[in-house]
Amino acid sequence: MRSFSKVLVANRGEIALRVMRTCREMGISTVAVYSDADSRSPHTRFADEAVHIGPSPSKESYLQIEKIVDAARRTGAQAIHPGYGFLSENAAFASACEAAGIAFIGPSADSIREMGSKSVARRIVAGAGVPIVPGYNGDDQSFESLRTQAPGIGLPLLIKASAGGGGKGMRIVREGSALTESLESARREADHAFGDGSLLIEKYIEDARHVEFQILGDHHGNLIHLFERECSIQRRHQKIVEESPSPALTPELRSRMGEAAVAVGRAIGYTNAGTVEFILAPSGEFYFIEVNTRLQVEHPVTEMITGLDLVKLQIEIAAGRPLPLAQEDVKSRGHAIEVRLYAEDPDNDFLPSTGIIHDWMPPAAIPGLRIDAGVEAKTEIGIHYDPLLAKVIALGADRETALRKLTYGMKSLSIQGIQTNRDFLIRLLEHTEFREGRYDTGFITGHLDELIAQKDAALDLACAAAAALYLQEARRARAEILPHIPAGYRNNPYREPLVKLQIGANTFDVSYSGTGDDTYAVSCGGERIQVQVVSWEPGGLRLSIGGVQRLFRVTEAGETMFLHSSAGSRTVKRLPRYPQQNAASDHETANASMPGQVLKILVSVGDEVSIGDALIILEAMKMEQTIRAAMAGTVEAVLVKMGEVVSPGDVLVEIAAHQK
Ligand code: ADP
Ligand code: ADP
Ligand code: MG
Repeated sequence: MRSFSKVLVANRGEIALRVMRTCREMGISTVAVYSDADSRSPHTRFADEAVHIGPSPSKESYLQIEKIVDAARRTGAQAIHPGYGFLSENAAFASACEAAGIAFIGPSADSIREMGSKSVARRIVAGAGVPIVPGYNGDDQSFESLRTQAPGIGLPLLIKASAGGGGKGMRIVREGSALTESLESARREADHAFGDGSLLIEKYIEDARHVEFQILGDHHGNLIHLFERECSIQRRHQKIVEESPSPALTPELRSRMGEAAVAVGRAIGYTNAGTVEFILAPSGEFYFIEVNTRLQVEHPVTEMITGLDLVKLQIEIAAGRPLPLAQEDVKSRGHAIEVRLYAEDPDNDFLPSTGIIHDWMPPAAIPGLRIDAGVEAKTEIGIHYDPLLAKVIALGADRETALRKLTYGMKSLSIQGIQTNRDFLIRLLEHTEFREGRYDTGFITGHLDELIAQKDAALDLACAAAAALYLQEARRARAEILPHIPAGYRNNPYREPLVKLQIGANTFDVSYSGTGDDTYAVSCGGERIQVQVVSWEPGGLRLSIGGVQRLFRVTEAGETMFLHSSAGSRTVKRLPRYPQQNAASDHETANASMPGQVLKILVSVGDEVSIGDALIILEAMKMEQTIRAAMAGTVEAVLVKMGEVVSPGDVLVEIAAHQK
């Protein structure tokens, strides 16, 4: 039995904070590690001590095994918690910790290594009598041999990187003719992302659901599961909503799948917290897909329904204590749903976004609502790390209660300054089919039109009016230093004040005139509404529009105003009086569509390119994007260098059209 009085958390963001909260509750001191970009980040400041481990790119900081083990040694931490991502599933890291006499709070290095290969995992699990997806996980990795496997498995196929994770290196093959190209591109991506091009082929299960089981094993031979989490709401094979219990399971299926998960854990002698993932086919058959040998992003769902603290259990297991409960002691006490708030733009193919969070207001604190956030007001979201900002989780006696609380929580949350998926998540939670529990992994693709932003003219109008009146009230407050001028005084009583505002792609000319009793007739885009200013203070105003009072929270950043209300949020820009002229250009340019770092430059000056040719590969927040030529021509200029950081809209390559 070991005893820890100090734990180093080898991670950042929400998960580092979450792990440190439990440590603190247990009376354990915490050590944070941080990169240049994180020297003032919430996780760095929360810890009792924090050690700088290098420059911002994770390769030079959060992935540096030596530096992290050394930080633990220097501060006297007896154990390291890896969180998720980064080094959490790195067997060499687990071994390096143990070699330095520091406990790794996770499974054994052997378990990590074995389960790190989806192919090896499939072989072990099949050996334990648990169903795996029909497919090929052999050692012969020649394209020829992989191709000959395909007919036996049958279309559609799913090619996966054996070393994969994060949905990378996966290709669905629906037609035989696409097989060779898909194998080649999957191998390239796997090689690049994981340094290992090994592939496996699985039957692609259509209309499937992702159902996973949380397992826990100690060093005394006890192994239990803590029920399932359903994580079928995904984009790019990555989860964004998780819940437990799964609306798709019957008690009978739940107990069979739970037993299978425990059988998988036993087959590998698993210790600590882990997750056994299954694909559930519409037929009710289920198949093992992989084991995640770490704490999962969505673990709070399990904590909410069981009332257990998984991090505390992880620490106790690593210290050699036996599990404090047996399988029959694990009880589910309701329904929990989690949503992941990401720095991404659902209206633009979910591309990552960066910038400064100008306004951050977590949801109202109501019982049963939990928020695990890694950000705060003024946090800058850069290109180096995962775009996960926060998780909001709700617990209710039943699914409907949990959904209602979560929707309410998300609507009361304000995050502005960067693009996020907040509104997308709200629309998803309110979608009829989701509310009825009728969904599978194709849900987002199948309902994208309904889930991306819809026009809301009434909200635009209300926010335009709120912005204009906010600015006027602010001017009035400033004018109070000249008390002899009556409020609302104007030189020219016949001219209504006018402001030019932009919301989304639309420009609004807002004019207003006082009609007494703090009420204004506001004209905007051909509409005229009566608005009463009920109260004003820096940072917000309360308006009554059509007899309904609402608070509008207002955050200003330069010429931009961020408005948040119960009716929704809008970013409002104050436009300059004289719009800038855009210089006309004869050249076609290839622009960055997302912030990122230049990973590859595929063309040079003088090259001939055709429409669709790849020009530049950008990388941001673990995602790669290829910028392609929009027309045929000759490359005239390459305006970026390898490793350069670019912003959306930056010109990367100029192409001159061929003479017709
Ligand atoms: P990763 O390591 O990237 O998490 P997984 O093997 O867990 O890779 O698969 C990621 C997601 O892809 C799953 O959650 C599921 O939605 C989908 N998926 C995986 N295997 C299959 C399959 N055989 N058929 C259908 N969908 C699958
Ligand atoms: P209720 O409105 O039914 O009283 P709340 O959802 O407001 O329950 O939650 C009150 C507290 O009880 C919360 O802190 C939550 O952790 C817990 N809780 C919520 N739902 C349940 C449940 N079904 N069983 C046990 N505890 C619950
Ligand atoms: Mg997975």
